[in-house]
Amino acid sequence: MASIRSKLTWRYTLALLGTLLLFSAAILVVRRSSVMREMTATSEVYANLSVQILREASTASENVIVTSDSLVGPVLNSRWQERLDVLPAYIIVLDRSDRRVYQSAMVRALPAGDLATLDDALASLERSSSTVFSTSDDEVVLVRRSDPDPRYSRFRVVAGLGRSTAEPATMELLGAMALMLPLLIGISVVASYVISGEAVEPFEVIRTEVEAITDGRSLHRRLPVEAGGDEISGLTHTLNDMIGRLETSFGALRRFTADASHELKTPLAVLRADVERAMHAPPNGNEQLVALEEALQETTRMADLVDSLLTLARADEGRLDLHREPIDLDPLVREVFETAVILGEGGALNVQMPVLQGSTVLGDRTRLRQLFLNLITNAIKYTPKGGDVEVSLSREPDFAVFSVRDTGIGIAAAELPYVFERFWRADRVRSRAAERGGFGLGLSISQWIAQAHGGTLTVQSRLNRGSTFTVTIPYAPVADGDVDGMGPEAVEKASAS
Ligand code: ADP
Repeated sequence: MASIRSKLTWRYTLALLGTLLLFSAAILVVRRSSVMREMTATSEVYANLSVQILREASTASENVIVTSDSLVGPVLNSRWQERLDVLPAYIIVLDRSDRRVYQSAMVRALPAGDLATLDDALASLERSSSTVFSTSDDEVVLVRRSDPDPRYSRFRVVAGLGRSTAEPATMELLGAMALMLPLLIGISVVASYVISGEAVEPFEVIRTEVEAITDGRSLHRRLPVEAGGDEISGLTHTLNDMIGRLETSFGALRRFTADASHELKTPLAVLRADVERAMHAPPNGNEQLVALEEALQETTRMADLVDSLLTLARADEGRLDLHREPIDLDPLVREVFETAVILGEGGALNVQMPVLQGSTVLGDRTRLRQLFLNLITNAIKYTPKGGDVEVSLSREPDFAVFSVRDTGIGIAAAELPYVFERFWRADRVRSRAAERGGFGLGLSISQWIAQAHGGTLTVQSRLNRGSTFTVTIPYAPVADGDVDGMGPEAVEKASAS
């Protein structure tokens, strides 16, 4: 594959070649039209000179026209012919009967083939003051003149000049161009190779640096940024940002893997101990059953963990599709509230639902239930005996609001920003259910569910005072005649109309 350097070199060269060719063609075209004008002007000079000579001839005493014989016809007196012969041009003198009484040496030298063309040119000259006639190897501009004074207007003169006489420089110009072109192209190839080499060098440096950084172990390093705001420093900034994001996500990945392995290690160790205990326990005793029951609990716990990990992994990949349908939140929240009451009984908690304003959202029933239950079980888990847990569902103009408030252990302000991070758990000592607590994945999953529904999950908490987790979910788009999914304002408007 050709390098950028050689591509640039060839493109520069082709562009230069094209420009040079266009430029040369333009010069030739301009020159050609100016030469045509010059040829016409010089032909007019020769024609005027001839008219002048013929006026002198007309006033002279001797015969201007002599008739040598009937074959040749009348010709100009040789004295005046000699005077006209001095002019280096095509000159033809015609008498009143259109007989050619004089032809200059150039006309006489024309080959027979060109004479017929000359006749045509002379005929067309009757209609215009100048014409161009092409001989076999030249192009001649012809003009006609006659003496303006009627006393001397016995003759008419046709004078012309060939391009080869008027424009000898064009051939030289073409020769020079032919010589210069390869030279210029050669110089341009070398110059553009050097320039493009200098232009791509910083990219090569960046490529080598990036290669060294992205080997996985040097992600903390950054590319040196050159001063100045050119494209290279822009690219360097962008790459540095990208390496920064890579570093963050690599770190998160490493932490995630370490946390996941750590979380699996404990239940696996317990499971192993339980199985060993069951194997070595006396066959008829109760101990074997106890050990197996504990093993089963650990297996369930591990299955839960793997399930959560799988959910998050699929969500990260964007492969976790929501089965969206219009969902009436009222019965769903009633159902999770009943579960909350049952769960709360164990901890002698006072579980209430002061507000229940039903609304319809477009969502995945299973995922929404999972989200609401996560928040409720957390509230119950982290609220000491005799505390309050309040579940509510209310309506805002654009979204439904589900919230769970508890008077539990709360979360310290410094720890709040980490609440939704994977595997994050507040100080285990404070947790009533520390030993059998969760894995710290529940809130990550809950936040993903809320966001996947176009909503939010936020938390307000004070240490030892309690926490409030609030979910917002946008209403389902309103179908004609259906006011279920509307917010209160929309409902009012709909009922007013
Ligand atoms: P877990 O399964 O450990 O509960 P979560 O992701 O649901 O995982 O919660 C993460 C951490 O957030 C918990 O370990 C706990 O420290 C804290 N937390 C969650 N909900 C509450 C709450 N209602 N009150 C106090 N702390 C909470």
